[in-house]
Amino acid sequence: MNHSNFPDWLFDLDNTLYPLDSGLFNQVRARIGEFMTRYCGVQTSDVLSTQRRYRDEYGSSLAGLMAENRTEPEPFLSFVHDVDYGVIEPNPRLADALAGLSRRRFIFTNGSTKHADNVLRRLGMEDLFEDVFDITRAGYVPKPNPAPYDRIVRDFGLDAKKTIFVEDMARNLAPAKALGMTTVLVVAAPDTISDEADYITTDLAGWLGAHAGAPS
Ligand SMILES: [Mg+2]
Repeated sequence: MNHSNFPDWLFDLDNTLYPLDSGLFNQVRARIGEFMTRYCGVQTSDVLSTQRRYRDEYGSSLAGLMAENRTEPEPFLSFVHDVDYGVIEPNPRLADALAGLSRRRFIFTNGSTKHADNVLRRLGMEDLFEDVFDITRAGYVPKPNPAPYDRIVRDFGLDAKKTIFVEDMARNLAPAKALGMTTVLVVAAPDTISDEADYITTDLAGWLGAHAGAPS
C-alpha cells in the first residue's frame, strides 16, 4: 500500500508512450487481420467489422477470438507482435520526464510483455518501469473490463486514490476513475473533451514535467 503523499503511476503503452503516427499500432492491427483471415476463417472483407464487433462485445480482438473461435492466446500474441519496431524513435525528452517522477512507474497494457519490452527498448525507457502488467497476467481479460484494474491494484499494492493512470483511450480510463484513480488522457487533437479524464494533454512529457513530484 502506498503510504507516501506521492502517487504511483500506471502507463498504457501503445499510442501513449509512443505516437500514433509512428504507425506501429497499425502494423499490429494489420497482423491481427492477417491472423483472422489465415487461421480463423474470416473473409478479408469482414476483418474490420469483425475486429470492431469483437472490441465492442468482448473488449478486444483476442478476447473475441478466444470466445468464438477457441483461439490459443499465446500464439496469437506472438503473431500479431511480429512487427517492425524500427519505426519507434528514441524519446529522451519523455524518458527524462518519466525518470523525474516520484514513486513507482508501471506499464498496464492489453499487449504482451515481450511487445512492451521491444517498444521500451526502442524508446530508451527499458530501465524506467518497475513491472509490466500485460494481457497474459490479466488472464487475457482486456481493459476496459474492470477485472484487470482490480487485479493490478492488488498485485502492485496500489492505493487507487494515490495512483495516476495515463492512457490514450478514454474508455479505458473509466474503470480507473471508478476506483478513485486520477486519470490523464493523451490525445493528438487539442480540442478533445472527455468525461473520463481528469487531465487531457497533447504533450505527455510536458505534462509530466509540470506534475512531477506533485503530491496527489
Ligand atoms: Mg493505447
